[in-house]
Amino acid sequence: MYINNIIEAIGNTPLVKLNRVTDGVKATVLAKVEYFNPGNSVKDRMALRMIEDAEKAGILKPGGTIIEGTSGNTGMGLALAAIAKGYKCIFTMSDKQSKEKIDILKAVGAEVMVCPTNVAPEHPDSYYSVAKRLNQEIPNSFYPNQYDNLSNSAAHYDTSGPEIWKQTDGKITCFAAGVGTGGTICGISKYLKEQNPDLKAVGIDTYGSVFKKYKETGIFDEEEIYPYATEGIGEDILPKNVNFDLIDTFIKVTDKDGAIMTRRLAKEEGLFVGWSSGSAVHGALEYAKEHLTEHDTLVIVLPDHGTRYLAKIYNDDWMRTQGYLD
Ligand code: PMP
Repeated sequence: MYINNIIEAIGNTPLVKLNRVTDGVKATVLAKVEYFNPGNSVKDRMALRMIEDAEKAGILKPGGTIIEGTSGNTGMGLALAAIAKGYKCIFTMSDKQSKEKIDILKAVGAEVMVCPTNVAPEHPDSYYSVAKRLNQEIPNSFYPNQYDNLSNSAAHYDTSGPEIWKQTDGKITCFAAGVGTGGTICGISKYLKEQNPDLKAVGIDTYGSVFKKYKETGIFDEEEIYPYATEGIGEDILPKNVNFDLIDTFIKVTDKDGAIMTRRLAKEEGLFVGWSSGSAVHGALEYAKEHLTEHDTLVIVLPDHGTRYLAKIYNDDWMRTQGYLD
């Protein structure tokens, strides 16, 4: 029994019951552990789908170069698919990302350009702008643009959503995921709400991001935007993949609460996951304590693996420097 290449290993990740971090929660809490994907993150699913949709549309041709602004996980997914299919990759990243993430992308053959974090998205040096410019300059290049490319949420509508429905035997009543591009939560929520219109979708946001306020007031408030440390969730833009009708409520989680819960998931559940996983669990459990009963089944997406955060949240000295540990 074998698969033909590594990208055929994408998807069908396990749903793991959380047993120890769930004190005070009556609902059954299940984690969709996405580090079982070959690139160790949820992003493998949409990276492959963006490439295959572009091939079908004739936008990506043999020998082409894939250019994307990515915090690392999408880059890994794109790099794996590019290896299997024979494309080159250039990624632009902001300089707040873990060094491990940059090294990992180089290890799988990608070129990485590091850009400053604390500039507006429309600034010519931002990682969004640099990716767009390279796309214009390099012939036969494809810029997937994970923020606005709806192949992103479609991947989750077609794969993660049905997997979760089947794995819970249709018993899921509440679903929570961090919101970055919005592809994960909106693709899954759309599928699940079609099966059960009463299902609640909870979006996990960060302090320093615009989503929660926009959902509650319809106002894009620039005062909400400031630097924060959690990687992969929260935004200073409104990506097209975020459909606010598919997210019932947002919960903001601090960098510290997310980091502490991530370490608890590793120590108490054996789930060596990334920072945004802790944020998602912390926020989702806060929601569950207030709104869910023993009749509910809550599924939380854990997007990536802990290795990429060894120098940060899994390092006690770093945690103390941040004031996250006594
Ligand atoms: N967590 C991590 C670590 C991520 O890389 C991402 C992707 N930005 C997310 C959460 C959020 O997923 P999405 O982009 O599908 O909203």
